[in-house]
Amino acid sequence: MIIGALEAGGTKMVCALGREDGSIIDQISIPTTTPEETIPKIIEYFKDKGIEALGIGAFGPVGVDPASENYGYILETPKLAWRNKDLLGSLKKGLKVPMAIDTDVNGSCLGEVTYGCAKGLNSVIYITIGTGVGVGVWVNGGLLHGMLHPEGGHILLNRHPEDTKGGVCPSHPNCFEGFASGPSIEARWGKKAVDLKEQSEVWELESFYIAQALADYIMILSPQKIILGGGVMHQEQLFPLIRRKVKELVNGYICSKELDDIDNYIVPASLNDDQGIMGAIRLGLNALEQEKS
Ligand code: ADP
Ligand code: ZN
Repeated sequence: MIIGALEAGGTKMVCALGREDGSIIDQISIPTTTPEETIPKIIEYFKDKGIEALGIGAFGPVGVDPASENYGYILETPKLAWRNKDLLGSLKKGLKVPMAIDTDVNGSCLGEVTYGCAKGLNSVIYITIGTGVGVGVWVNGGLLHGMLHPEGGHILLNRHPEDTKGGVCPSHPNCFEGFASGPSIEARWGKKAVDLKEQSEVWELESFYIAQALADYIMILSPQKIILGGGVMHQEQLFPLIRRKVKELVNGYICSKELDDIDNYIVPASLNDDQGIMGAIRLGLNALEQEKS
């Protein structure tokens, strides 16, 4: 059985063909321009490939409640060409297979829960730190949506007293994404994050912000595992710094076997940067199962 998987990002659309075991048979990337130009290219790729369903992990905000009128719409995005565009509906017109859509980060979280390091756990969070910061939440064995979907990248954090630059989020002077995204690092230090590896003060400050956010998620969601992905998290020296600071912030208030084994609690993404597309395969399988039931 072949399942279509789409990771709909603000800069590129990754289209892939996969199987139930999460294996990826083929994959292409299409630049994200306007919906009028981009969506037909996606349809063109998937049609005639024999897919039985399509799963989509999308940039947001995006309607993810199947019962809502805005299901599958890209909502109030700063990418104006995509604002209030019916992504799912347009794909359904061109590809007559069952489809399901969720946020890109919920998709990645689902990928790790289904095929990766969080297999079998019932409460897990996945955080991406890249161009933006986003959080996917799997709680009590299901993806969390709530009134829309969580925006865990925009939780408010304390600014470090020595951070003279501050945050870059246009909406919040002191949010996680504003302080810790790749563009924020670049704005603060005047160099690409990848070129700052040897500057320990960069990663001290970065881990100060990430650890605060993680401590908040731990207190609120009580996850059994926290997975950190995205470009910035390729800086592996961040992990020990984050773990130490999280322990300090929790300060013994929560005692659990997970926190005692923090090296296996706060971990890098485990699927070779395929967690998003693999999660989309699982979303497609869900849509197929739903249709059959
Ligand atoms: P996106 O978030 O756009 O899907 P990425 O997760 O790759 O894509 O994030 C891109 C951001 O991550 C950029 O700001 C880039 O500078 C940063 N980045 C990418 N690779 C690395 C790396 N190896 N080390 C540090 N930062 C990186
Ligand atoms: Zn913000």
